[in-house]
Amino acid sequence: MKLCRLTKKNKKQRNQFYKIFTEKQNRIQAKEFACIPFNKRIVCVPHCMRNTSVCIALEKDGYYLCAECNGCKINDISILIKKLAYQALYVLKGGKKIESIIKEQTPKAIVGIACFIEGYQAFKILEYESLAVQFIPLIKDGCVATDADLAEVKKVLKQCNV
Ligand code: SF4
Repeated sequence: MKLCRLTKKNKKQRNQFYKIFTEKQNRIQAKEFACIPFNKRIVCVPHCMRNTSVCIALEKDGYYLCAECNGCKINDISILIKKLAYQALYVLKGGKKIESIIKEQTPKAIVGIACFIEGYQAFKILEYESLAVQFIPLIKDGCVATDADLAEVKKVLKQCNV
């Protein structure tokens, strides 16, 4: 893949660009996001955050449904969104599934956890949808055993001015 041949310096510059872009989009959409009721919001997390050695999530077409086995941080996210009465949580196998989920579920807001490049692509995919998006970057990316800042995730999920 072409991206793999990027030099270290180019990768750093590219990631900096995605970081600036996604942080700007988060700021622009934060107010609107906070005005959307919890039950009109969905959450998308990457499947690479799962602990695959213990995961018992139910596999669907393009995503998993977390079974709350307490094997990874998705467990805490799942419990919190149920408590707040979010519309749904999707453990995505890939970003492309977002479009069909939106068509089926018609949410008004999305919280997405991903690496910066996926976050950038998601903002682009959703550019013309009437949705408020908040992106939370992974603190450890790399396609397997990735990690997110749970405190940051909870902070974003709880934002609500309704
Ligand atoms: S908490 Fe959910 S996603 Fe994480 S390992 Fe268990 S079933 Fe899989």
